[in-house]
Amino acid sequence: MFEPELESMSRPELEQLQLERLQATLTRVSRNVPFYRKKFEELGIDPYDFQSLVDLRHLPLTTRDDLRDNAPYGLFAVPLREVVRLQTSSGFCEGSTVFGYTLGDIRRWSRLTARVLAAGGVGREDMVHVAHGYGLSTMAFGMHYGAETLGATVVPVSNGNARRQVGIILDYRATSLSCIPSYALYLADVMDEMGVNRNALPLRWGLFGGEVWSEQTRKTIQDRLNVLATDNYGVSEVMGPGVAGECLERQGMHINEDHFLAEIIDPATLSPLPHGTIGELVLTTLTKEALPMIRFRTGDLTRLVPEPCACGRTLVRMQRIQGRSDDMLIIQGVNVYPERIGAILAETHKAEPDHLIVVDRHGGLDRTMLLVEANMVAPDQIKAQQKFIDLTRQRLAMELGLVFEVKLVERSTIAELRPDLGKVVDHRKF
Ligand code: ZN
Repeated sequence: MFEPELESMSRPELEQLQLERLQATLTRVSRNVPFYRKKFEELGIDPYDFQSLVDLRHLPLTTRDDLRDNAPYGLFAVPLREVVRLQTSSGFCEGSTVFGYTLGDIRRWSRLTARVLAAGGVGREDMVHVAHGYGLSTMAFGMHYGAETLGATVVPVSNGNARRQVGIILDYRATSLSCIPSYALYLADVMDEMGVNRNALPLRWGLFGGEVWSEQTRKTIQDRLNVLATDNYGVSEVMGPGVAGECLERQGMHINEDHFLAEIIDPATLSPLPHGTIGELVLTTLTKEALPMIRFRTGDLTRLVPEPCACGRTLVRMQRIQGRSDDMLIIQGVNVYPERIGAILAETHKAEPDHLIVVDRHGGLDRTMLLVEANMVAPDQIKAQQKFIDLTRQRLAMELGLVFEVKLVERSTIAELRPDLGKVVDHRKF
C-alpha cells in the first residue's frame, strides 16, 4: 500500500475524518461559491451546523448541467491566480466545462493515483508506459504524476502510432501499461501482426480505466498481454483517475474514501439506496480546493461492496461500472441497464454476440424480447440452439428478475432492425 495508515483506517476513524473534511468543504463552498450558497439557502441548510454524515442525503445534488451553466469558472472556490492547472473532460464535447486544480489539489491527486498504481502491483522499480492521450483530458497527467510520486519510471508515450508503442515497450522494457482497455486489445492485435511473442513481453501489470469493460475483456487482456489487469475509476468533474482502483484481489475498486464520499442513489427517484444495490454513483469531494463538488451525479452505475477485502484495505469497494444511468430502462418496475444484458451474455457464452432488446406493452404489461445473433451456434443444430436460449433466459431471470423471450436471429438482422447503434428498441408509449 502506498499510504497504509490511510488506506486501512478503522471505520470510526475514517468517518470522523470524513465528517471534519465535509464540514470544512461545506463552509468553504458556502463562502466562496454563490451557486452552492444559494442552494443551501433554498434548502434551509446551515453549513456551519452540519453534524452527521447521515445528513449528507439532505444536501443538494450537482449535475453536469450545473457545471455547464456555470462554465467556465463559476463553481471554482478559489481565485484563478491560485489555480495551477486546467483540464477538461475526456468524454464528449462538454461545451466549455473546465476543471481547475490548485497546487495542493495536484499533490493530493498524484498521491491518489500513486495509491491506485500501487494497488495494481506497480512499485518503485517498475516502468509505467502511459498510453493515454496527453492533453486536456485528465487520464494521462493523472496517471503520470501518480507514477512519478510512487517513484516508478514514467514513459509518457501518449496514444496513437501503435507499432511505435509496441517497439517502445519492447526496447525500454516497460513493466506496466496504463491505457483504456480497448486500446490494450488494439495493442495486442498490433503485436500479433508484428509477430511479437507474448512470452517475450516485459509487461507484468496492466492498469485500465476510462471506459466500461467486462470480466471477459479482462481475461482476454490478461491472456494476450501477459499482464495482471486491474480496473481503475475516475471522474474528471471530481478529479480524474485516482477516485478508485482495484487491488490484486480484483474484486472491485477501493474508493479513496478519505478524499471522496460515495453514495448510490436511485437515478429515477434520487433517493439513496442501501449498500449492495446497483444505482448511480454520487461523489462528494472532501479535499478539493479549486473545484469542490457536493453530491456530484456521475451518471455511472455500480454498487458498493462493504465486505472487508483480503488485501487489508478498509476502503469500501465499488463494482466495475455497469453502464450509464441515462440509458436505463424500467421494465415491469425493474431497472434494467442495457450494458448489463450485454455483460450477462458475455459471461454466459464467453463472447458478447450482437443483440437487441425490444420492449413492448400489451394490455398494460411490459413484454421484453431479446434478439441475439448467435453465430457460435450453427443454424441446423436445433438442440444447441434451444440450449443457448434456455441458458440465456435462465441467466437473465436470475440476474435481473425478469422473464425475457429470447430469439436467435440470422447474421446482420439486427443491423437492419435498429434505428442507430443502440441496443434498445422501446415501443412503449409513456
Ligand atoms: Zn483489496
